[in-house]
Amino acid sequence: MNRNQVLPQIQLSTEPSDLKKIDLCAPQTYQGAGFLSIPDLPRLAQEASAVYPGDGFDWEIRTHFEDSPGSEPRQILDMGLNGRLQLVCQRCLQDCAVDLAEARRFVLVDSEAQADGFPIEDEEQEPLVASQHFNLLETIEDEILLSLPLIPKHPDGFCEPHASSFTGEALDEPSEESENPFNILKNMKKN
Ligand SMILES: [Zn+2]
Repeated sequence: MNRNQVLPQIQLSTEPSDLKKIDLCAPQTYQGAGFLSIPDLPRLAQEASAVYPGDGFDWEIRTHFEDSPGSEPRQILDMGLNGRLQLVCQRCLQDCAVDLAEARRFVLVDSEAQADGFPIEDEEQEPLVASQHFNLLETIEDEILLSLPLIPKHPDGFCEPHASSFTGEALDEPSEESENPFNILKNMKKN
C-alpha cells in the first residue's frame, strides 16, 4: 500500500510567516510554492549589496513518505529554489546579480543524534530534524546562504569599468606616471 495515497495533503501557505511553524511530525504530506522577497529573508538581506525589483526567490516544497525496508517509512522533503540577489563583485566592487537555481532533497529524522549519524558521504540527501514547529522559512534561507558563491564576480568581461579609467586624464599625461604611488611601489619592489 502506498502510504502517500492515504495521507492528507496540506497546501503550504505562501505567507512567509506561516512557513515558520510547520508540523513535520504529523501524518500528512505538504506541497506548495511561493515567492520570498529579500526583506522576507533577514540574513540574506544583510548579504545583499542592493535590492532591485524582482530580486528574491521562488520556492517549491513537496514532502512524501518513502518506504524503507525494515523500518518506518522515511519522510522526504524536496525543495526547489530559483531566484536572484545582488552581491558585491569582488573584481569591480559594483553590484553583481547572482542567479541561483537549486534543488535539494532532505530526509526527516527524529533527533540531532540521528542527524549526526547520517552518512556524510550521502550527497543526494541531507538530514533535517523534524519537529512540530519546523521553521521552513529558516531552512529555505539556510539553503540560499549555503548556495551563494564564495567570491561573487561578474562573468568575464562584464565588470563595470573603474570610474578613474574613464577620466581620460591619466592616459594623456604620461608625465604624471612617475609620481604615481603605485609605480613608486613597483620600482621599490624591483630593487
Ligand atoms: Zn564586476
